[in-house]
Amino acid sequence: MEDHKQLLFSKSYINGEWVSGSPENFDVLNPADGSLVTKISNGDGQTVSLAIDAAHTAFKPWSKKSAKDRSVIMQRWYSLIIENKEHIAKIMTLESGKPINESRGEVDYGASFIQWFAEEAKRLYGDIIPGYTADRRIMVIKQPIGVVGAITPWNFPLAMITRKVAPALAAGCTVVVRPSEETPLTALAIAHLAEKAGFPNGVFNVVAGTDAAAMGKVLCESPLVSKISFTGSTKVGQILSTQCVPTLKKLSLELGGNAPFIVFEDADIDAAIKGAIAGKFRFSGQTCVCVNRILVHEKIYELFTTKFVKAVSELRLGNGMREEVNIGPLINKKAINRVESFIQDAVKKGGKILIGGDKIDDHFFSPTVIGDATATMDFAKEEIFGPVAPIFKFSSDEEAIHLANDTIYGLASYFYTNDLKRSWKISEALEYGIVGINEGLISSEVAPFGGVKYSGSGREGSKYGIEDYIEIKYICIGNID
Ligand code: ADP
Repeated sequence: MEDHKQLLFSKSYINGEWVSGSPENFDVLNPADGSLVTKISNGDGQTVSLAIDAAHTAFKPWSKKSAKDRSVIMQRWYSLIIENKEHIAKIMTLESGKPINESRGEVDYGASFIQWFAEEAKRLYGDIIPGYTADRRIMVIKQPIGVVGAITPWNFPLAMITRKVAPALAAGCTVVVRPSEETPLTALAIAHLAEKAGFPNGVFNVVAGTDAAAMGKVLCESPLVSKISFTGSTKVGQILSTQCVPTLKKLSLELGGNAPFIVFEDADIDAAIKGAIAGKFRFSGQTCVCVNRILVHEKIYELFTTKFVKAVSELRLGNGMREEVNIGPLINKKAINRVESFIQDAVKKGGKILIGGDKIDDHFFSPTVIGDATATMDFAKEEIFGPVAPIFKFSSDEEAIHLANDTIYGLASYFYTNDLKRSWKISEALEYGIVGINEGLISSEVAPFGGVKYSGSGREGSKYGIEDYIEIKYICIGNID
């Protein structure tokens, strides 16, 4: 096992080597206090090009390895990440502010994709189809798509990478990862462990740098890259889509959300409170499946709200490195300002602050509940990405469905009821890629994760997740008389 400092790297990882980018460095800061975690050599578009070339050269030999050989290397990578869980979690908390226990959870969750797809690598079965004439035989085989570019956000510094990279590598693709400039350290740490696991040079590359637009453009426009997989905002997803048009590049997009959390009048209220706290406040509300709007039936509104506010009052705010903390800092000052403006807008339009509402400093915002929320408030339409929970009232199932679907987004949704008929009807009516019934935490490597509408396309995890990284080839054999 290594010390966490032995897992701190300050250059990009390309073709099995640590490579400097442009002459200047950039700072990775600790969101809890703005202190310097480390300086990193600033990779740029040219550095991305180097990585693409390396991945392109590595593609043929990697894709020609047996699925079992690829699987063995991936299993070793999984084990090394788990062995170094404590150190990776520490690095993750230092660069993202995530409470240390959540970081440990993310190491398990992120690594689970590597294990899952190491297993799936060996089950990438094709098909034999009955011939359409007596002398023909028809086969379908699955082949890796090629070099994959993965552009990832800061909120899951490990898992958003492994969710893309693990199915890609299992299928036989090679990858160039461009992690968020806020959280490149976790990505570089796992690059080191990938090397130890035995990936050949050029199969897994990480380019760290601040000029996201230039680096993304090189990935999208390169004819050597066959596929882009992106997790981030809808706005950037649209930019990447446009940039991928000339090369007709395949694209998977996991974009913003606006998750409703519906509590029906027959719900188990205590279970709903627990689910709402977990679904809203994990990583201070900074995930794309975090609860954005809590919709509560008018008959139980008072009871739910009282219990919810009490549960929020028990959350412990502070530096994520402290074991007891479950609400850490927000990622940066911009995020604090954004949360503040949501609250000001809501109060102006009649919302009531039931608890919180305080900017502590440029790093921390107190967990907040807003009562009497309405559809005209900004957070009814936009993703909050912070520790603010607005509670809306509804009076019928139809109204709940209408409110829930009244958004351009369609990633995660949640509802609480004990009525079987209602469970089916609401599940079918929700225009979302993911539905949690009586459950506020729904992410797992075994289940397909992804959205509809402006939340993107493609699915990550599960048996479906590898399909984004393969091409289907139809082979027809004729003249078998
Ligand atoms: P978030 O709000 O989660 O930061 P973004 O979409 O802004 O969402 O960022 C997600 C990732 O996309 C980050 O790694 C960011 O640096 C990167 N990014 C931002 N703008 C662009 C762009 N124009 N092209 C490519 N990547 C970008």
